[in-house]
Amino acid sequence: MKAKVNQDICLGSQDCVNACPEVFKMEGDKATVLVAEVPKDVEAKCKAAANGCPAAAISIED
Ligand code: SF4
Repeated sequence: MKAKVNQDICLGSQDCVNACPEVFKMEGDKATVLVAEVPKDVEAKCKAAANGCPAAAISIED
């Protein structure tokens, strides 16, 4: 599974970083993805972070 942040619409709310710091981190006022492949053990957390993004800026690819 892969995760991607569309920085053009990211609001910088940091919700994704709080929900899943294994995958997301802030880069200035935008979130970015730390890992090319989401580790299996954090897939659920990562999906929850994507669902919780107020800008719907996170996309998930299987
Ligand atoms: S939750 Fe969404 S809007 Fe907030 S920092 Fe993460 S990607 Fe950006």
